[in-house]
Amino acid sequence: MNLLIMGPAGSGKGTMSEKIVELLEIPHISTGDMFRDAMANQTKVGLEAKSYMDQGLLVPDEVTDRIVKERLSQDDCAKGYLLDGYPRNPHQAKALAEMTKELNREVELVINLEVSYEELVKRITGRRLCKECGAIYHIHFKPSKVEDVCDICGGELYQRSDDNEEKLKVRHEEYLTKTAPSIDYYREKGLVKDIDGSRSPELVMNEIKSILEAF
Ligand code: AMP
Repeated sequence: MNLLIMGPAGSGKGTMSEKIVELLEIPHISTGDMFRDAMANQTKVGLEAKSYMDQGLLVPDEVTDRIVKERLSQDDCAKGYLLDGYPRNPHQAKALAEMTKELNREVELVINLEVSYEELVKRITGRRLCKECGAIYHIHFKPSKVEDVCDICGGELYQRSDDNEEKLKVRHEEYLTKTAPSIDYYREKGLVKDIDGSRSPELVMNEIKSILEAF
């Protein structure tokens, strides 16, 4: 199944993606993760992306479109994929339509997580990630058993440099002005399922499961 997961920063895309890809056994393609890996490895893409990411702004389309096309062309996407964090604007939605048509891997379903801004602030400012395996925690809602240590792999937990209220404001503005209009592109095609993402992860995942089953 060829899926997109959309929603503002902090809406639970990463958490739901982990569960969906396990269920469907398809690759999870997160442009944010790809950029963070590229930055950590100091590749050309990483260096290009860094200044934009540091400010909470979108990385230019030509860089982003290129890495997505390369990734979607790989063999493991033949059985489906879950794209997370792309497209982020109408240009990227159009680029995705062209590349997936060419690859015969067109988007079939869009899961759109809706969460209020107040809730996003609470989630983002308490979010912690594992440096080793990427597992997601929250200091209040989902703390690790030992402070700053991952329950799964023992890796060190860290806070993303853009996970603060000031950067979230910019990221949210980018979302409202650029990403939200690109959801309409899929809405017109009847592909969007809107989900109340403010509930517990279990309830949200149950709804996603029934949507996937009905598909
Ligand atoms: P995320 O992990 O999805 O919150 O993305 C973190 C940051 O990576 C964003 O604030 C952008 O700077 C960059 N980024 C991720 N995906 C995209 C995209 N599709 N287009 C442009 N920039 C992106």
